[in-house]
Amino acid sequence: MAVIEQLTQDFLRTKKLPHIWCPGCGNGIVTAALVRAIERSGYDQKDVVIVSGIGCSSRAAGYLNFNTLHTTHGRALAFATGLKMARPELKLFVIMGDGDCSAIGGNHFIHSARRNIDLNAVIVNNHIYGMTGGQHSPLTPTGKKATTAPRGTLERPFDLLELARGAGATFGAKGIAAQPRQLEQLILRGANHRGFSVVEALSPCPIAYGRRNKLGGAVEMLRDMKENSISVERAANMEETELVDKTITGVLFSIDAPEYAEEYYRSIGKEIG
Ligand code: SF4
Repeated sequence: MAVIEQLTQDFLRTKKLPHIWCPGCGNGIVTAALVRAIERSGYDQKDVVIVSGIGCSSRAAGYLNFNTLHTTHGRALAFATGLKMARPELKLFVIMGDGDCSAIGGNHFIHSARRNIDLNAVIVNNHIYGMTGGQHSPLTPTGKKATTAPRGTLERPFDLLELARGAGATFGAKGIAAQPRQLEQLILRGANHRGFSVVEALSPCPIAYGRRNKLGGAVEMLRDMKENSISVERAANMEETELVDKTITGVLFSIDAPEYAEEYYRSIGKEIG
């Protein structure tokens, strides 16, 4: 059986298909990279939990054949924290969109980072609230249009990974849907990291974001994404002026620090496992 068919059979709830995503949406690319990363991690399927909030990308939890928890808007990390503390041996992947993670769930995000709890956050950043009608999020670039910013948002976006690092996260990486193999590798590295890992995946939303901002269709958006990205290794040898408006991809930080669930179980004299 071909690899793709095997992965589909093993890891997708095919009865839940077809999915709801628009043609050209990047959510499928990011979800596939996540599945391949989990498969390569060697984790037992019954030990893996996919947690998600609300939004287009969060629908992935319904399609994936693992233990899954589809929670309320912005609260995926809060549910995941409770589960990790109760069952610390489980491997948790938390899928969130940019609005879900950095606006409604922003407080959970910074405190998950501060605790350095062993959760693997995969943030699908398409710069917009897609499902709820195209409102701007804290990751919408300045000047880009949204239903709530018809002349272009005046706000400056968060640098999500700098926010995570500043709050205490110990692993941060950025990938793009236009380079799915690199994205898979980054999610795998995050999974192998002990502590709170954040992988930000830039992903095209040709409908709620691309159309409104005249960015073309999915092909053009993916091409632009690729042309405007530079690996962290190449960027290290470039001038700051050459990096303006570029997306730097790869592992941006990886730090060793005590992990919260382990510390807690040690403090009460219990073994994990
Ligand atoms: S609205 Fe955007 S993010 Fe949502 S499914 Fe459609 S293309 Fe994807």
